[in-house]
Amino acid sequence: MRIYDKFYINGQWVTPIGKSTDEVINPANGEVSAKVPYGNTEDVNAAVSAAKNAFASWSQTSAAQRAEFLRKIAVEGERRNADLTQTVVDELGMPIQHAAAYQVDALGIICESYAVKANHMEESEEIGNSVIVQEPIGVCAMINPWNYPIWQMIGKVAPAIAAGCTMVVKAASQTPSHLFIFAEICDAVGLPAGVFNFVHGSGRELGSALSAHPDVDMVTFTGSTAAGVQVTNSAAPTVKRVCLELGGKSPFIITEKADLEAAISFGIHDVMVNTGQTCNALTRMIVHESVYDQAVELAKLKTEALLVGDPTDPKVFIGPMSSASQKQTVLDYIDKAIAEGANLVTGGTGMPAGMTKGNYVLPTVFSNVTNDMAIAQEEVFGPVLVIIKYSSVDQAIEIANDTPYGLASAVWAGDNDEATAIARKIRAGQCSINGGDANHEAPFGGYKESGNGREFGIAGLHEYCEIKAIQY
Ligand code: NAP
Repeated sequence: MRIYDKFYINGQWVTPIGKSTDEVINPANGEVSAKVPYGNTEDVNAAVSAAKNAFASWSQTSAAQRAEFLRKIAVEGERRNADLTQTVVDELGMPIQHAAAYQVDALGIICESYAVKANHMEESEEIGNSVIVQEPIGVCAMINPWNYPIWQMIGKVAPAIAAGCTMVVKAASQTPSHLFIFAEICDAVGLPAGVFNFVHGSGRELGSALSAHPDVDMVTFTGSTAAGVQVTNSAAPTVKRVCLELGGKSPFIITEKADLEAAISFGIHDVMVNTGQTCNALTRMIVHESVYDQAVELAKLKTEALLVGDPTDPKVFIGPMSSASQKQTVLDYIDKAIAEGANLVTGGTGMPAGMTKGNYVLPTVFSNVTNDMAIAQEEVFGPVLVIIKYSSVDQAIEIANDTPYGLASAVWAGDNDEATAIARKIRAGQCSINGGDANHEAPFGGYKESGNGREFGIAGLHEYCEIKAIQY
């Protein structure tokens, strides 16, 4: 069991002012995997004060100096890869075959990406008698979810360091340990005191305090749309920048000319990885009527072939849900879908064969789903796919756009031209066509209620910048 009792503030391991503690539960077996301090608003004030004091000198460092720190963090992060991976398995329940590849390896990759991009901070543009420069926005509060804890954390921390910002980070209550290790990494590489600080505790209390704090210049939040609205409300009186990365209910249109076998394999992998707890999961498969029955059969076969079980087993593809409450939420959605008339193709509310404990849910597929059902409109955040039938491309696009969300999407068509024409009509921040891979250099973010910010790539750096015009 991991036991932590300090926060990292102003380059020191400090005893929290708030005296509460929290136990982190391993979702695969219900055992306590970590004990961590649970701070209060006074801890937030101390961390923000450290970040504010550090900003004056850190914002004046050269891009080359900041790039060097990012590269050192990448190297030290690689050295701690196994420790970080274990936290993801123990706290999130992500199978070990995915934990490093989908989360921990990103730490070095994203640091290297922003080490290269730090130079953009020293570029300027002349427009008439003006020189346009970019400057770091200041003190950033970063609030992260539990589903991709390390990926989300480094997607904020690395561009902020590259830009010359200072920061206070809060992880989700379910997945805190990586942040204690990441602070050890920052300490080991000698990142100047106050640049990176973290506190831990309740999102409602600490998250609200960070969002509302007058000395925080920007709050960047990844999580549910409901909490994102609360962050926005808390931040409003101080007119700080609010960057939101929120939920999704992403569509995947499969046309009659698609390579059906390849498309269904891609779709099932996408929706089931991380036990369906992925913000941009393609949870609504929208299939042409001429190939619908075949698609449902293929989806059933491919879903039933996925091994569910202990996330420490390298053969396992689907682990437990991250918490008992998340499991109950998913089971309630499955019951509701059946009550609304959806056809259960595979899965359901039982435990996987041989499992007697842990927050397991069977990977589940529904057919005969209409887009007005709750299972098609609301983010389930579990291993649940719905397959919806369409008869014309216009109807498919209408269905794709008919949710409050707009995070991601995909199209599989006869060729890239046909797929691109459809992709351009979907209201979402990303679209994968004909199996196109994720790209960490491309901007990631949502339309509509999926958010208003962009992370990764150069757009991710710009989130942390102010723009100044100097006239001569
Ligand atoms: P969540 O309940 O909204 O929590 C996210 C974070 O916000 C946690 O650190 C939480 O702290 C904190 N928080 C909770 N209430 C808050 C408040 N009122 N003010 C400030 N902070 C608050 O979300 P989650 O269940 O962890 O994550 C799942 C959600 O994240 C899904 O909707 C998913 O789609 C979304 N997500 C989006 C992206 C993206 O890039 N668009 C990526 C990943 C996940 P506690 O844990 O202490 O409550």
